[in-house]
Amino acid sequence: MSGDAPIEDLGGGWYRTPGGKKVQGRKAAEEKAEIEEELDARLEAAGLRGADIDELAIVVGSWHGRPNYRCGHCPHADLNLERMREHVILTHLPAPGPQPGPMIIRTDRFGNELAPEEG
Ligand SMILES: [Zn+2]
Repeated sequence: MSGDAPIEDLGGGWYRTPGGKKVQGRKAAEEKAEIEEELDARLEAAGLRGADIDELAIVVGSWHGRPNYRCGHCPHADLNLERMREHVILTHLPAPGPQPGPMIIRTDRFGNELAPEEG
């Protein structure tokens, strides 16, 4: 995935991010898209792509009759589930390793994949 995934112009100042969120304002959509990309990368690196809130250790409680989301890793809490997911992923999941470039697969002249060189 590259940083130039398309942001869809929905008209009326609304945009849809590559992650499917409707955001008002182009700049906000671009920022959201960047966060989505970072979240995806971390989930992928942690093997938690598509994880539900249990797997992310988000505890659902209540606050004045509204659902309140608490972090299972620290005392942080938020009434907004999406912000809570971002908190858990960005704060508690390890950053993906330094491999920003495309994965290079070496092949022989027949197109068969070769093992990566050791050392
Ligand atoms: Zn936390």
